[in-house]
Amino acid sequence: MSIVLVPIGKVDPAEIRMLEDPLEAAFSRGVAIGEEVPLPAAARNAARGQYDAEMVLEFLSLSVETTGDGRVLGVTNADLYFPGMNFVFGIAGRRCALISLHRLRQPFYSLPEDPAVFRHRAVVEAVHELGHTFGLAHCKDPRCVMRFSNTIAETDRKGPAFCTACRPRVCTGAAGRR
Ligand SMILES: [Zn+2]
Ligand SMILES: [Zn+2]
Repeated sequence: MSIVLVPIGKVDPAEIRMLEDPLEAAFSRGVAIGEEVPLPAAARNAARGQYDAEMVLEFLSLSVETTGDGRVLGVTNADLYFPGMNFVFGIAGRRCALISLHRLRQPFYSLPEDPAVFRHRAVVEAVHELGHTFGLAHCKDPRCVMRFSNTIAETDRKGPAFCTACRPRVCTGAAGRR
């Protein structure tokens, strides 16, 4: 009944810890921090300077055991892509999900560092990808965290909360269901 946060490659521990409380609140589940796993070299696309998100997710699910209702969220600074897409903020599988912090920092957009904006984005992306592992699809409610976002502006428009239709599906009766 818990969520484990796993750094993939070098990640500032404070940037992992800042996700703990918001995720506990969003999912009403305990959140723990796991051991760092390395970025899989095979997932690196040298020409793009990015990592293949599906390969990193696959590596994560093989590296970390998940049992019962447990979920794993990998957190990396590597820039991720998905075949056919320039980049992804994150992806999700059945029990494991993955987010990249790379495009969540203001300096990526040539703006000054803003820790509050960065934290908001990281929490929104973390809740969104874990929401998928609890079986949620994309939601049409513009304020719902499960709304699809393809640009940083869309991520910034969302809050980290589920709408009234999505929330019951992650917080009650979801245990054990796939
Ligand atoms: Zn999504
Ligand atoms: Zn929703």
